[in-house]
Amino acid sequence: LIRISELTKHFVNGADCVSALHGLDLAIEEGTFLGVMGPSGSGKSTLLGLLGGLTRPSAGKVEIDGIDLYRLSNEKRADFRREYLGFVFQSHNLVPYLTALENVMLPLAVSRLKDAEKKRFAAEVLERVGLKDRLLHLPQQLSGGEQERVAIARALVNKPPLILADEPTGSLDSATSRQVMELFSELHREGQTIVMVTHNRDNLDWFDRTIFLRDGQIVEEINQRPETPARECA
Ligand code: ATP
Ligand code: MG
Repeated sequence: LIRISELTKHFVNGADCVSALHGLDLAIEEGTFLGVMGPSGSGKSTLLGLLGGLTRPSAGKVEIDGIDLYRLSNEKRADFRREYLGFVFQSHNLVPYLTALENVMLPLAVSRLKDAEKKRFAAEVLERVGLKDRLLHLPQQLSGGEQERVAIARALVNKPPLILADEPTGSLDSATSRQVMELFSELHREGQTIVMVTHNRDNLDWFDRTIFLRDGQIVEEINQRPETPARECA
């Protein structure tokens, strides 16, 4: 599904050049729940941004289903992002003056669907994340976990093959965080591919695989669901 090769990203900070990612190679199979861990500044969000077509790499490439993301025109890449990706950020980024339903409808704004259909789709996915009775609430009327679930619903509403989540449980207490992880895990069981950045080691058990970044490189990798080795014939 996803193939990253020799991915490198530099940022110019005044006179300095910060190397955020350093020749990263990584393949992610369809249906994988991948965890990305590492200290602050190790390049986790940069990696997610590059996977999501948000910033250009300095070198290397990102291929998703055989499409070389950064060889697309900006316009085509934006289309690709809309159809292919759902983003969940730590700060939710919910629009404060829109209801939960309206927030979830946002990604459908450019679609050709009729308004009634957009509403129906948004309501269905809010029901799916357990917020059936919160459709008309504003973000400030919702708890942190509920806001996070609205953000997840919004990421899911156009049924993207790939979900990218940057510390979705970072601001949640452990019980709420667990509920959110259970929701992601349910999606994963249904076949959703998810890449999630987290600081929380308690989340490790939920992943199929976890990569650890340091200074823009993968320094360790854990495979939580190793293939059962084929038994030898006698
Ligand atoms: P955190 O856990 O704190 O979110 P992170 O692993 O997500 O950290 P990144 O945000 O990917 O880290 O940053 C990696 C490095 O790149 C850091 O040194 C950071 O200062 C630098 N960096 C990231 N974005 C920019 C930018 N837009 N301009 C300049 N430097 C940047
Ligand atoms: Mg980050």
